[in-house]
Amino acid sequence: MLDMIGIDSIEVRKVQQLSEIDGLIIPGGESTTIVKLLNMFDFVDDLKLHVESGMALWGTCAGMIVIARELADPYPTPINLIDIGVSRNYFGRQVDSFEAELNIKGIEGDPMRAVFIRAPIVQSTGDNIETLATVPATDDHPEQAVAVKSGRVLATSFHPELTRDTRLHSLFVQLAEDARIDENRTNAKRRLTEEPASKV
Ligand code: GLN
Repeated sequence: MLDMIGIDSIEVRKVQQLSEIDGLIIPGGESTTIVKLLNMFDFVDDLKLHVESGMALWGTCAGMIVIARELADPYPTPINLIDIGVSRNYFGRQVDSFEAELNIKGIEGDPMRAVFIRAPIVQSTGDNIETLATVPATDDHPEQAVAVKSGRVLATSFHPELTRDTRLHSLFVQLAEDARIDENRTNAKRRLTEEPASKV
């Protein structure tokens, strides 16, 4: 999707690579596994420092679960990069996956088709959280928030890479672009490379 809009991207596999990027996407998948790997490869502290100093971050589906402040579920322990409470697998099992047309704040034109696969929802939001989209109430559930933003951190419940609609990716790239030209961040980044987070 990033190629389609002409954006250079890398797969981040080592924590040092966080210094090379202006925005990080934590994709869908399985949140317990992602959190385990982030801890195993010593990502959590540095990721926090980068996000606090202004790097853009987008968690989608499992990625949203990973970056939440708290979960309604016992596992995993999320890493708290956005002030939201999240409930995993809210709509049910794999067979309950669905697609919906969403009106997303900040996206012009037609509604976006969004693919929900064992998707989470945003159950509670802190003061600085802007809700960008909700799925309407049905017989099974009330209206629920499925896209939120706080500063340069974006969290979405669905899989934006499964259609050919790149508008949400463009919105995220704009946040990364803001991060790139943010002078405070450049200074913070310099400090980060000079004094790497102490490891225990
Ligand atoms: N249900 C998965 C989890 O809890 C997320 C599913 C997905 O990313 N499509 O981690």
